[in-house]
Amino acid sequence: MKPVAFGMTDVGKCRKINQDELLIDETRGLFAVADGMGGHAAGEVASQMAIEALTEAVPDDDGKLAGDPDAAARWLACAFREGNRMICESVMTRGEWRGMGTTIVALLTLGDRVVIGHVGDSRAYLLRDDALQRLTSDHSYVNEQVKLGLLTDDEAQRHPMRNIVTRALGNRTDLEVELRHHDVHPGDVYLLCSDGLNSMLHDEEIAGMLRDNAGNPEQACQALVAAANERGGEDNITVIVLQAPES
Ligand code: CA
Repeated sequence: MKPVAFGMTDVGKCRKINQDELLIDETRGLFAVADGMGGHAAGEVASQMAIEALTEAVPDDDGKLAGDPDAAARWLACAFREGNRMICESVMTRGEWRGMGTTIVALLTLGDRVVIGHVGDSRAYLLRDDALQRLTSDHSYVNEQVKLGLLTDDEAQRHPMRNIVTRALGNRTDLEVELRHHDVHPGDVYLLCSDGLNSMLHDEEIAGMLRDNAGNPEQACQALVAAANERGGEDNITVIVLQAPES
Protein backbone atom coordinates (compact mmCIF):
# COMPACT_ATOMS: atom_id res chain seq x y z
CA MET A 1 0.00 0.00 0.00
CA LYS A 2 1.04 3.60 -0.53
CA PRO A 3 -0.68 5.23 2.41
CA VAL A 4 -1.33 8.91 2.85
CA ALA A 5 0.40 9.85 6.09
CA PHE A 6 0.60 12.77 8.43
CA GLY A 7 2.25 13.20 11.83
CA MET A 8 2.46 15.79 14.59
CA THR A 9 4.23 16.16 17.89
CA ASP A 10 3.19 18.61 20.60
CA VAL A 11 4.74 19.48 23.95
CA GLY A 12 1.32 19.41 25.67
CA LYS A 13 0.15 21.75 28.44
CA CYS A 14 2.33 20.74 31.40
CA ARG A 15 5.83 19.82 30.26
CA LYS A 16 8.51 22.37 29.35
CA ILE A 17 10.24 20.18 26.78
CA ASN A 18 9.16 17.62 24.22
CA GLN A 19 10.99 14.29 24.55
CA ASP A 20 8.93 12.55 21.85
CA GLU A 21 10.32 12.00 18.38
CA LEU A 22 8.65 10.85 15.17
CA LEU A 23 9.68 9.50 11.78
CA ILE A 24 7.70 9.73 8.56
CA ASP A 25 9.55 8.26 5.58
CA GLU A 26 6.99 7.79 2.84
CA THR A 27 9.60 6.69 0.29
CA ARG A 28 10.55 3.64 2.33
CA GLY A 29 7.13 3.23 3.94
CA LEU A 30 8.63 3.56 7.41
CA PHE A 31 6.86 5.34 10.27
CA ALA A 32 7.72 5.51 13.97
CA VAL A 33 7.04 7.23 17.29
CA ALA A 34 9.55 7.20 20.17
CA ASP A 35 8.86 8.56 23.67
CA GLY A 36 12.05 9.37 25.58
CA MET A 37 12.49 9.42 29.32
CA GLY A 38 15.20 10.76 31.60
CA GLY A 39 16.22 14.20 32.93
CA HIS A 40 19.01 16.59 31.79
CA ALA A 41 17.79 16.42 28.17
CA ALA A 42 18.49 12.68 28.19
CA GLY A 43 14.95 11.77 27.12
CA GLU A 44 15.27 13.67 23.84
CA VAL A 45 18.69 12.16 23.24
CA ALA A 46 17.35 8.64 23.69
CA SER A 47 14.30 9.06 21.45
CA GLN A 48 16.44 10.74 18.75
CA MET A 49 19.00 7.92 18.88
CA ALA A 50 16.30 5.28 18.50
CA ILE A 51 14.86 7.03 15.43
CA GLU A 52 18.34 7.57 13.98
CA ALA A 53 19.21 3.89 14.36
CA LEU A 54 15.94 2.96 12.67
CA THR A 55 16.55 5.34 9.75
CA GLU A 56 20.03 3.96 9.19
CA ALA A 57 19.33 0.27 9.64
CA VAL A 58 16.30 -0.27 7.43
CA PRO A 59 17.35 -0.76 3.79
CA ASP A 60 16.40 1.81 1.14
CA ASP A 61 15.12 -0.83 -1.23
CA ASP A 62 12.25 -2.83 0.18
CA GLY A 63 12.13 -4.97 -2.96
CA LYS A 64 13.96 -7.84 -1.28
CA LEU A 65 11.85 -7.69 1.82
CA ALA A 66 8.47 -7.23 0.16
CA GLY A 67 7.87 -10.92 -0.29
CA ASP A 68 9.14 -11.81 3.14
CA PRO A 69 7.52 -10.07 6.10
CA ASP A 70 9.49 -12.28 8.50
CA ALA A 71 12.74 -10.94 7.06
CA ALA A 72 11.37 -7.40 7.35
CA ALA A 73 10.41 -8.03 10.98
CA ARG A 74 13.95 -9.23 11.67
CA TRP A 75 15.29 -6.01 10.10
CA LEU A 76 13.07 -3.96 12.36
CA ALA A 77 14.18 -5.88 15.44
CA CYS A 78 17.86 -5.38 14.45
CA ALA A 79 17.26 -1.64 14.07
CA PHE A 80 15.67 -1.46 17.53
CA ARG A 81 18.58 -3.42 19.01
CA GLU A 82 21.07 -1.08 17.36
CA GLY A 83 19.25 1.90 18.92
CA ASN A 84 19.31 0.10 22.24
CA ARG A 85 23.05 -0.51 21.93
CA MET A 86 23.71 3.17 21.10
CA ILE A 87 21.67 4.36 24.08
CA CYS A 88 23.21 1.86 26.52
CA GLU A 89 26.71 2.92 25.39
CA SER A 90 25.94 6.62 25.77
CA VAL A 91 24.65 6.05 29.28
CA MET A 92 28.03 4.57 30.20
CA THR A 93 29.95 7.59 28.86
CA ARG A 94 27.80 10.37 30.37
CA GLY A 95 26.88 10.06 34.03
CA GLU A 96 24.02 12.59 33.78
CA TRP A 97 22.32 10.40 31.17
CA ARG A 98 21.96 7.49 33.58
CA GLY A 99 18.44 6.15 33.49
CA MET A 100 17.63 7.50 30.04
CA GLY A 101 15.61 5.32 27.73
CA THR A 102 12.88 5.41 25.16
CA THR A 103 9.86 3.49 23.97
CA ILE A 104 9.39 2.97 20.25
CA VAL A 105 6.63 1.80 17.94
CA ALA A 106 7.40 1.43 14.22
CA LEU A 107 5.35 0.44 11.19
CA LEU A 108 6.90 -0.68 7.91
CA THR A 109 4.69 -1.07 4.84
CA LEU A 110 5.56 -3.88 2.41
CA GLY A 111 3.23 -4.07 -0.55
CA ASP A 112 -0.13 -5.06 0.92
CA ARG A 113 1.31 -6.05 4.29
CA VAL A 114 2.49 -4.09 7.29
CA VAL A 115 5.06 -5.06 9.89
CA ILE A 116 4.76 -3.50 13.34
CA GLY A 117 7.36 -3.62 16.08
CA HIS A 118 7.20 -2.09 19.53
CA VAL A 119 8.94 -1.79 22.86
CA GLY A 120 7.31 0.02 25.78
CA ASP A 121 3.94 1.78 25.88
CA SER A 122 3.80 3.70 22.60
CA ARG A 123 0.94 2.19 20.64
CA ALA A 124 -0.30 1.19 17.19
CA TYR A 125 -4.05 1.16 16.52
CA LEU A 126 -6.04 0.08 13.48
CA LEU A 127 -9.42 1.46 12.46
CA ARG A 128 -11.01 -1.04 10.07
CA ASP A 129 -14.69 -1.02 9.07
CA ASP A 130 -15.24 1.68 11.73
CA ALA A 131 -13.97 -0.52 14.57
CA LEU A 132 -10.79 0.38 16.47
CA GLN A 133 -8.36 -2.32 17.59
CA ARG A 134 -5.12 -2.02 19.50
CA LEU A 135 -2.33 -3.73 17.57
CA THR A 136 0.20 -3.47 20.41
CA SER A 137 0.11 -4.54 24.02
CA ASP A 138 1.87 -2.04 26.32
CA HIS A 139 5.02 -3.21 28.07
CA SER A 140 4.02 -1.42 31.26
CA TYR A 141 3.38 -2.20 34.89
CA VAL A 142 -0.32 -1.31 34.67
CA ASN A 143 -0.89 -3.42 31.55
CA GLU A 144 0.61 -6.42 33.32
CA GLN A 145 -1.95 -5.84 36.08
CA VAL A 146 -4.74 -5.57 33.47
CA LYS A 147 -3.66 -8.86 31.89
CA LEU A 148 -3.74 -10.53 35.31
CA GLY A 149 -7.27 -9.20 35.83
CA LEU A 150 -6.16 -7.01 38.76
CA LEU A 151 -6.97 -3.67 37.13
CA THR A 152 -9.53 -2.59 34.55
CA ASP A 153 -8.44 -0.58 31.52
CA ASP A 154 -10.01 2.55 33.06
CA GLU A 155 -8.23 2.02 36.38
CA ALA A 156 -4.94 1.50 34.53
CA GLN A 157 -5.40 4.78 32.67
CA ARG A 158 -5.71 6.74 35.95
CA HIS A 159 -3.25 4.67 38.01
CA PRO A 160 -0.38 6.58 39.72
CA MET A 161 2.09 4.04 38.29
CA ARG A 162 0.76 4.25 34.72
CA ASN A 163 4.07 5.75 33.50
CA ILE A 164 6.20 2.79 34.56
CA VAL A 165 7.32 0.88 31.46
CA THR A 166 8.66 -2.64 31.86
CA ARG A 167 10.60 -2.64 28.60
CA ALA A 168 12.47 0.24 26.93
CA LEU A 169 15.46 0.90 24.71
CA GLY A 170 18.38 1.82 26.99
CA ASN A 171 17.36 -0.29 30.00
CA ARG A 172 19.39 -3.43 29.39
CA THR A 173 21.65 -4.81 26.69
CA ASP A 174 19.44 -7.77 25.69
CA LEU A 175 16.32 -6.24 24.24
CA GLU A 176 13.17 -8.20 23.53
CA VAL A 177 11.17 -6.70 20.65
CA GLU A 178 7.52 -7.55 20.02
CA LEU A 179 6.70 -7.94 16.31
CA ARG A 180 3.66 -8.72 14.18
CA HIS A 181 2.64 -8.46 10.56
CA HIS A 182 -0.69 -8.64 8.78
CA ASP A 183 -2.60 -7.79 5.60
CA VAL A 184 -3.72 -4.28 4.81
CA HIS A 185 -7.34 -3.85 3.69
CA PRO A 186 -8.51 -0.95 1.51
CA GLY A 187 -9.47 2.03 3.67
CA ASP A 188 -7.57 0.87 6.76
CA VAL A 189 -6.46 3.69 9.06
CA TYR A 190 -3.38 3.15 11.23
CA LEU A 191 -2.50 5.33 14.20
CA LEU A 192 0.86 5.37 15.97
CA CYS A 193 0.97 7.41 19.19
CA SER A 194 2.84 8.14 22.39
CA ASP A 195 1.05 7.68 25.72
CA GLY A 196 0.43 11.45 25.93
CA LEU A 197 -2.51 10.74 23.60
CA ASN A 198 -4.03 7.58 25.02
CA SER A 199 -3.53 8.62 28.67
CA MET A 200 -5.79 11.62 28.01
CA LEU A 201 -8.39 10.01 25.72
CA HIS A 202 -10.36 6.77 25.80
CA ASP A 203 -10.13 4.40 22.84
CA GLU A 204 -13.77 5.17 21.87
CA GLU A 205 -12.92 8.87 21.66
CA ILE A 206 -9.85 8.14 19.53
CA ALA A 207 -12.01 5.92 17.28
CA GLY A 208 -14.61 8.69 16.90
CA MET A 209 -12.00 11.22 15.80
CA LEU A 210 -10.44 8.81 13.30
CA ARG A 211 -13.91 8.03 11.86
CA ASP A 212 -14.92 11.72 11.71
CA ASN A 213 -11.72 12.57 9.82
CA ALA A 214 -11.54 9.49 7.58
CA GLY A 215 -9.60 10.25 4.39
CA ASN A 216 -7.81 13.21 5.97
CA PRO A 217 -4.84 12.17 8.16
CA GLU A 218 -3.79 15.78 8.75
CA GLN A 219 -7.18 16.77 10.17
CA ALA A 220 -7.29 13.57 12.22
CA CYS A 221 -3.90 14.37 13.79
CA GLN A 222 -4.97 17.94 14.57
CA ALA A 223 -8.22 16.76 16.17
CA LEU A 224 -6.45 14.14 18.32
CA VAL A 225 -3.74 16.51 19.58
CA ALA A 226 -6.28 19.29 20.28
CA ALA A 227 -8.51 16.88 22.21
CA ALA A 228 -5.61 15.56 24.35
CA ASN A 229 -4.62 19.15 25.15
CA GLU A 230 -8.19 20.12 26.02
CA ARG A 231 -8.30 17.17 28.41
CA GLY A 232 -5.21 18.52 30.22
CA GLY A 233 -2.24 17.76 27.94
CA GLU A 234 -0.30 16.28 30.86
CA ASP A 235 2.41 14.77 28.67
CA ASN A 236 4.00 15.26 25.25
CA ILE A 237 1.59 14.13 22.52
CA THR A 238 2.73 12.51 19.27
CA VAL A 239 0.54 10.99 16.58
CA ILE A 240 1.00 9.59 13.09
CA VAL A 241 -2.09 8.70 11.05
CA LEU A 242 -1.81 6.56 7.89
CA GLN A 243 -4.68 6.01 5.52
CA ALA A 244 -4.60 3.10 3.08
CA PRO A 245 -6.23 3.83 -0.30
CA GLU A 246 -9.88 2.79 -0.67
CA SER A 247 -9.09 0.44 -3.54
CA1 CA B 1 5.12 10.03 27.34
